[in-house]
Amino acid sequence: MSQQFDVVVIGGGPGGYVAAIRAAQLGFKTACIDATSSADGKPSLGGTCLNVGCIPSKALLQSSENYHHAVHSFADHGISTGAVKMDVTQMLKRKEEIIAKNTGGIAFLFRKNKVTSFHGTGSFKGRNGDKYVLEAKLADGKLEAIEATHVIVATGSSVRQLPGVTIDNKLVLDNEGALAIPAVPKRLGVIGAGVIGLEMGSVWKRLGADVTVLEAMPTFLGAADEQVAREALKFLTKETGLVINTGVKIGEIKVSKKDVTVNYTDAAGAEHKVVYDKLIVSIGRVPNTAGLNADTVGLKLNERGQVEVNDDCQTSLPNVWAIGDVVRGPMLAHKASEEGVAVAERIAGQHPHVDFGTVPWVIYTSPEIAWVGKTEQQLKTEGVEYKKGQFLFSANGRALALGEAKGFVKMLADKKTDRILGVHIVGPYASELISEAVVAMEFSASSEDIARIVHAHPSLSEALHEAALGCDGRTLHS
Ligand code: FAD
Repeated sequence: MSQQFDVVVIGGGPGGYVAAIRAAQLGFKTACIDATSSADGKPSLGGTCLNVGCIPSKALLQSSENYHHAVHSFADHGISTGAVKMDVTQMLKRKEEIIAKNTGGIAFLFRKNKVTSFHGTGSFKGRNGDKYVLEAKLADGKLEAIEATHVIVATGSSVRQLPGVTIDNKLVLDNEGALAIPAVPKRLGVIGAGVIGLEMGSVWKRLGADVTVLEAMPTFLGAADEQVAREALKFLTKETGLVINTGVKIGEIKVSKKDVTVNYTDAAGAEHKVVYDKLIVSIGRVPNTAGLNADTVGLKLNERGQVEVNDDCQTSLPNVWAIGDVVRGPMLAHKASEEGVAVAERIAGQHPHVDFGTVPWVIYTSPEIAWVGKTEQQLKTEGVEYKKGQFLFSANGRALALGEAKGFVKMLADKKTDRILGVHIVGPYASELISEAVVAMEFSASSEDIARIVHAHPSLSEALHEAALGCDGRTLHS
């Protein structure tokens, strides 16, 4: 006998679990099938983000930053500590505790909202009239037959494999292994200078590893504003101490019992053979559709292997929706969650809207990098006339007091209408500062609107205020 639900979500990451909670809030009988387990085999909701992504990476970034401060900047404040030691085991234990708190929190929210949770793999089996027939292969081996009126596919993504190299998470690591290295490696190689590669490289560099990042693309952080990317590259190489080689062509990779040898050709054509104690592979992520049995019901995938959806996350099948990393668009947790909320509300007949033009991007390196809206190069390509205001954190009192006076805020506004088109930040707490810009853009604010708003003093947000003033050539403190 099948269990019957109004809405079944396959995948319990930030897309899926949020969709399930919202659907339950709206009165639907809802279930979520999620395959992720903790180390002891228990369900561990929250997907990549909570288990092996956003949250654990930020836990390690914070630990490594604290260590870095203790070694390099406490003395500036007159604090002497004696020899500072790093206990990696404790750092990893703290990270695991943070994961457990977060994943346990989702289980609590499911109980509170009466979302039925199946721990296992969900797949399509067929149709029964206007219902979809699903099967959950549970972690204990049992099979659960389920029928649903609406299905939300939120199966997320997995690491893109490097051809010819097996990720063993001992010597060759994906994000999961990179977040669990038991001792600081002496020589760490990172293939891929994307967000994940830079964040993981920064963690282990700050803890003392020699880190080399090898990137195939000729440009660094191609999606970012060029000026921000240049500034970030300068800080990450000169201050964090990462070695970043762009335009490389990776050749043979040999894994021995104790290390990994990478052959590559650099941008100038010179050949290199380098030995690393650990190698992180972070060359992007691919959508998880393999276990879904999409063919059985005719669920259409696109040429990139993503579930094909329209702007409203509707798939090729009626009442089947897909959200998050498994569909087009940026692979970001907050984008997945907002799509999840919107889909649940659409199922309820509401008319929500997700503004893909104001999704913020953040890279949690030191200094942090964040942006929303258009880059200068995009505006130039599109032929949009714009003006810009810029303000350096070195002229911001709070940044100086923090000892984090690196980087800048840049605001781009339409030359005629003054409407804000993009905001780009490299500097302290850029991840937090960008929210003001997102709100402003969402409300179609002009740079003048931000310039006229009273910002607390002393605060980092004054840099955004000054950048807004700068759009009209009237910064006060530079
Ligand atoms: P996921 O979080 O991948 O969740 C999918 C879930 O579905 C998983 O639990 C999976 O086991 C399960 N599943 C898959 N197939 C099935 C099936 N057939 N049946 C049942 N369950 C299934 N994003 C940010 O916005 N900010 C960050 O700071 C950030 N940092 C990151 C750091 C790292 C190291 C990584 C790897 C990613 C990071 N991301 C970050 C990206 C973010 O994790 C993803 O964008 C987000 O998790 C996508 O959410 P999702 O719900 O689509 O999928």
